[in-house]
Order: sequence, then structure tokens, then C-alpha cells
Amino acid sequence: MKRILSALLFVFLFLLTAKAQSVKYYGEVIPGGLIVAKAPECEIVTLNDDTLKHDSRGWFVFGFDRDAKGTFLLKVKFKNNRVAFKRFTLPHRKYRIQRINHLKKKYVTPPKRDYKRIAQERKIKQEKKSLIGKIDSAFYSVGFVRPVKGGRISSPFGSQRILNGVPKAPHNGLDIALPPGSPVYAMTDGIVRLVAKNFYFSGNFVLLDHGQGLSSYYLHLRKTFVKEGQFVHKGQKIGEVGSTGRATGPHLHWSVMWYKNRIDPGTVLKIKLK
Ligand SMILES: [Zn+2]
Repeated sequence: MKRILSALLFVFLFLLTAKAQSVKYYGEVIPGGLIVAKAPECEIVTLNDDTLKHDSRGWFVFGFDRDAKGTFLLKVKFKNNRVAFKRFTLPHRKYRIQRINHLKKKYVTPPKRDYKRIAQERKIKQEKKSLIGKIDSAFYSVGFVRPVKGGRISSPFGSQRILNGVPKAPHNGLDIALPPGSPVYAMTDGIVRLVAKNFYFSGNFVLLDHGQGLSSYYLHLRKTFVKEGQFVHKGQKIGEVGSTGRATGPHLHWSVMWYKNRIDPGTVLKIKLK
């Protein structure tokens, strides 16, 4: 009897440690995809040659840029020295070409007199962006919500843009058209890094830091309801839809970044954390 009990105890302990050393992944392996993972008892996590941040519960996050290609190797080393490997091979992803005409000329090729203002705004944005990626906390581990209710997707993520016939950078966010004044919510927990007022291209916008290099942007807002440095919760109202900056009509431009990688917000919404 004693033997059976000790054998059972052994099996139980084995299962317990095996469970503690497993890695759970959530997300889509595609260019623009975001992967959230949990590996309790992990010590070091690397993706190719980069070390990733993780919190004390083992949460970590990484993503693939819009134009990412090939295979990424993830290595998770646990506190007991065991190592788990996982390979992520990205499929090819095709993006639409989107032509937008009738944009005010000043938004396609800004006049010289606006250069200084645009450069100043870029500097402010860079400064605030540089604060992101310094936090080990996984604020995003509470999960994600859509930042608006309803609306129509007026421009998908990643499309190659031709504005008034001039080829421009690809669309790095998701545009959702809604009536002005519609509430805009934080996609997950985070710290407000920037509340921009009337920027040339982006209008009024909010930049949130979700920890470990994950951030989100909410552009062209009519109003904002948050302050820089404030902690916001998933689903908290941070602003209202508007058409400030370069916008052809009221809509939310929502973008998600992991460090410098452009993430498809649509892939974020498919992540259901258990
Ligand atoms: Zn947009």
C-alpha cells in the first residue's frame, strides 16, 4: 500500500512539474501576428537572438512585423535548466492595394511651412515611444477587447496605399468608421504614454504601453479622457471617435506595435486567454 502511494505521489509530482514547464501559446503565426505565451517557471526566453521580457508568472509576448518572413526560433529555458524549443514558420501574406483619392493636398505632400511642425511632432512621439519596452509587467495578460462597438472596417491592416496617385507607406493600422463621438476603449490594461493634441497627420491621439514592448495607438479622436502616466484598464473609455488630422471622415485608426513591429489588430482580437 505504501509503495502504491509513493508511486502515485511520484506520478503526481511528475505531472505537476511537467505542467509547470509547459509553454502555452495564443495567437496567429502570420506576418502581422501577435503571440502571447505563458511559461510558468521560465528563466530566459529568446526569439532568434533577442532576449524577451517575461513577468514573474511567466507571461511573455512577441509579434511578427507586417513584412516578416521565414522562420523564428523560440527558446524557453526553465529554472530547472530544461529547455523547450518551438519553431514558427510564417506563410506568405498578400496585402491589398488601396487607392484613396480626394485627400486634401496638404496631407499627401505637406507644404514647406508645415515641415517644422511635423518634425516637432515626430520628435515628441519618438520621445514618448522610447519609454515603451522598459516594463517587465504583462499588463496585457488580462486579455483584449475591441476598442469600439460596431462600426465598419473602412481600411484594413497592411494595405499598400496610393494617396491621390502617390505611393505611400503601407497602412499600419485598422480603420473603423463610426459616428463622431462614439466611445473608444483601451484594448487592454496599460499606461498612457502620450495624449497628443492636434497632430498634423494623426490629430488627437492616445498611445498606451501594455508592457514588454507591446503598445497601441488610437488616432483622429475628437476628445480624449486620459492623462499621460495614468494607468488604464481594459475596456476603459479613453476617448471619442473623431476626424482630427488626416482623415476623410470620422473613424478610429487603431494600431498595435510590438517594439518596431507592425501588428495586425485583427490578430490581437482573436487571442482568447484562458
Ligand atoms: Zn488608418
